[in-house]
Amino acid sequence: MDIQHKLEILADAAKYDASCASSGAARKDSRGGKGVGSTGGTGICHSYAPDGRCISLLKVLLTNACLYDCHYCINRRSSNVQRARFTPEEVVRLTLDFYKRNFIEGLFLSSGIIRSADYTMELVVEVARQLREEHHFRGYIHLKTIPEASPALIEMAGRYADRISINIELPTQQGLSKLAPEKNLARTQDAMGHIRGKIEERHAEKRKPEAPKPPPFATGQSTQMLVGADDSTDAVILQRADLLYGTYRLRRVYYSGFSPIPEPSALLPIKPPPLVREHRLYQADWLLRFYGFKVEEIASAAAPNLDLQLDPKLAWALRNRATFPVDVNRAPREILLRVPGLGVRNVERILSARRYARLRLADLLQLRVPMKKVLPFIIAADHTPARLGLDDDSLRARFLPPPRQMELDFAAPPVAGDIDSVRSGEL
Ligand code: SF4
Repeated sequence: MDIQHKLEILADAAKYDASCASSGAARKDSRGGKGVGSTGGTGICHSYAPDGRCISLLKVLLTNACLYDCHYCINRRSSNVQRARFTPEEVVRLTLDFYKRNFIEGLFLSSGIIRSADYTMELVVEVARQLREEHHFRGYIHLKTIPEASPALIEMAGRYADRISINIELPTQQGLSKLAPEKNLARTQDAMGHIRGKIEERHAEKRKPEAPKPPPFATGQSTQMLVGADDSTDAVILQRADLLYGTYRLRRVYYSGFSPIPEPSALLPIKPPPLVREHRLYQADWLLRFYGFKVEEIASAAAPNLDLQLDPKLAWALRNRATFPVDVNRAPREILLRVPGLGVRNVERILSARRYARLRLADLLQLRVPMKKVLPFIIAADHTPARLGLDDDSLRARFLPPPRQMELDFAAPPVAGDIDSVRSGEL
């Protein structure tokens, strides 16, 4: 099989993995110094597929053959797909060729498991080693690691990669036992704990005065959770994400709406979850990380799934009308962050501007506050929401998306995986 054909198969197989995001923002010059792929200067290429997926990384599998039989995966042992396998040298050549043509910023490499976890991990690490040591590649490298691989190999992966990730896939052991019988939640979390230890060890070494520079290690780890493949509620998914952020200091948890694959297992649901569920989970994730919300406030045992029609912050505000209206001239930061429509940047601007004057609506407009959304929830020098006279139902109706938008939101995703454009944003 020629390399072009292998690329078609293995890049297509990799699209189901959502646990990477190419940095659109400024990033430190990976590994320092100059070299092929350094992003310290100009020439960084960002491009997006029509479905919003970021394709500025070469995102491929080393192989789509796999010993495991995860029911939700197109590459599982029992799947009837054409198999292909790159050699490490082929991936290295492709990465360098694409980089030099400015098609990509770096490499995202994952793999099905062949022969054993250690054998596969050795091949993955070999790609990164050749890029870094033989070709002095300074571009971004994200390696998917296998929790069952030996800690020494995961450590080596961390030494060459900017980001490493281990997919947790499902939030409960119960779900894994049913759909990914070879996978184990405790083992995956142990591996995450090991990576966290290594990252922190390196930071501590770096802080020691006059100590020699420690060997490089990945700056963060991330994971992916499938949504809608099992019956886990949003509350369960968010609790797991919260635990991963808190205990293992993950940089990101990616939520990937399950989408039906060719020749699906009978254990899988027939229909994918609506696209908007993934979007709401990203919004809720943002609230947990940057807005001081707790999981129980967003999705509780009584209402374990997110409201698909309204963003989770707005839904919370409508359930907690007693907290509002909030005076933008007096309220502390943590309360301002709870106002629907006020994002972190807006809140910082308000805190800074109100030191000099009592803020009026015109001032908020100048600070680019989305007025339609915030007006029912705030008091300003020249505004109290009582004048609007809105009760809970009319408020909810006011914020519902238009019917056409709702149709799109509740449709099945066009392709498997995530949409980058819904992964972030002010709430
Ligand atoms: S281990 Fe990975 S590649 Fe293999 S079947 Fe499971 S999800 Fe797919």
